Amino acid sequence: MKYVAVTGGVISGLGKGITASSIARIFKARGVAVTPLKIDPYLNVDAGTMNPYQHGEVFVLDDGTEVDLDLGNYERFLGESLAGNHNITTGKVYRSVIEKERRGDYLGNTVQIIPHITGEVKRMIREVGETSGAEVTVIEVGGTVGDIESMPFLEALRELRQEVGKREDMAFVHTTLVPVVGAVGEAKTKPTQHSVRELRSLGIDPDMIVARSTLPISTEIKQKISLFCGIRQENVISVPDMACIYDLPVHLENEGVGDRLMQILNLPPRPADLTNWKAFTERYHQASGEVRIGVVGKYAELKDSYLSHSEAFHHTQGHLGVNVKVVWFDAEDLVKSTPLADQLDRVDAILIPGGYGRRGIDGKMLAIRKARESGTPLLGVCLGFQLAAVEFARNVLGLADANSTEFDPGTKNPVVDLLREQGRVKDLGGTQHLGSEKVVLTEGTLVSRIYGRKDIRERHRHRYEINREYLPKFEEKGLHVSGVAPDGRVEAFEMPTHPFFIGVQYHPEFLSRPEAPHPLYVGLVKAAMERRGGGTPAP
Ligand code: GLN
Repeated sequence: MKYVAVTGGVISGLGKGITASSIARIFKARGVAVTPLKIDPYLNVDAGTMNPYQHGEVFVLDDGTEVDLDLGNYERFLGESLAGNHNITTGKVYRSVIEKERRGDYLGNTVQIIPHITGEVKRMIREVGETSGAEVTVIEVGGTVGDIESMPFLEALRELRQEVGKREDMAFVHTTLVPVVGAVGEAKTKPTQHSVRELRSLGIDPDMIVARSTLPISTEIKQKISLFCGIRQENVISVPDMACIYDLPVHLENEGVGDRLMQILNLPPRPADLTNWKAFTERYHQASGEVRIGVVGKYAELKDSYLSHSEAFHHTQGHLGVNVKVVWFDAEDLVKSTPLADQLDRVDAILIPGGYGRRGIDGKMLAIRKARESGTPLLGVCLGFQLAAVEFARNVLGLADANSTEFDPGTKNPVVDLLREQGRVKDLGGTQHLGSEKVVLTEGTLVSRIYGRKDIRERHRHRYEINREYLPKFEEKGLHVSGVAPDGRVEAFEMPTHPFFIGVQYHPEFLSRPEAPHPLYVGLVKAAMERRGGGTPAP
């Protein structure tokens, strides 16, 4: 078992997660069995209760673990599904150590950060590598070197390098910022020098520096970093800002990162095959024409909240070769401003993503109504799906007070109601229906044609469901069920009289990958292209 640890210095937000994902991808391109692991130095046990405003989207894995959005990047770059143990948080580590202490596992010893917390971190890291049968585990350490929170993890990694035996069994890649300052645009290496010194003071000697900057750094700057930081020059890698994150694996490969890392880890050289990946990025960049997709969300200010949706549209662009432009609408503003609401008439399709709480639901329903009445293609996801049912009940069935009990617990027409499963209420993270589950699609429906099969598996994250008592009324007025779960939950519906009016209880966005875009996004964009060709061009 070999390890590559990716740390970050100077500032956060340098794209360390994308760098680590791309490193994993170029190992995979060589046929090296690789597995990623993300360390989040926060005290939350998982990301389930975290506010997307602060933190970006909560990503859900097959096993139902709610994780940091970086895990989504790993899945997308590797084209593989991961399990919850690929995310270690401070909360998880402490919980495990405290449980062991209560059980008496430490035999009366004083339980301390070193060796007990660091020992648990190492155990968790080794376990991920071993259970996934990987040759190389790529470990990303969240946060910035020097943060108090990440100290125990860096110490654990230092110890791990010592324990793996040979130095060549573990490589450290340090991501830093090379700012370009002044009128003449001078690239500055000092922050990198300080950051490397900081890392060394913790006993970690990096093997490779990934120098992030707006533009490529010159050979001269590489030489300087090499000299001052004591890193071989060929191991100083320039990573300028990229037009598209999916360009990074190819860039790193061209910079020789794959060969260098194989050498550092003393693995025999193997050629990299990135053919499919390159075909995807080429189609992406050469896309012609444009469709505009309106996304109506609550956290519209922070596009990270809907990262997987945006990525799914990028994947679709690389698949269909048409530019997919996402236009963000703040749901709350939509109901306040008619000119803004009118702009919705000029998009080629609408997506209503998931969400929690009352804020913004009226704006989302306004958008759904517009899509339903105008024939604009619509995809409602999770809350978007539930609100499509509420909107339909109110404006087509004439049940003016119809609502979800999430927003009006006393409504006389609870068309969306709490999940009827029993015994799920454990803690806040546990009250939801989470993770991957089978969905059976109804033959002959648009949804089943889009997937091209009957049995699918999709990921879930919800507490409410469509109230099945209303199904006969929905069917009668033209909203047809297109998919159900084994327990009878309504998973998808559609309006056969509409070109593309689809709602899904599950989260298709979590399963879309560059090399395998999700069929519902491809379907939505194709419907948008058709609509556009059909004579409603956007201005
Ligand atoms: N708030 C809704 C529920 O709990 C939808 C959740 C979501 O969109 N992820 O069912």
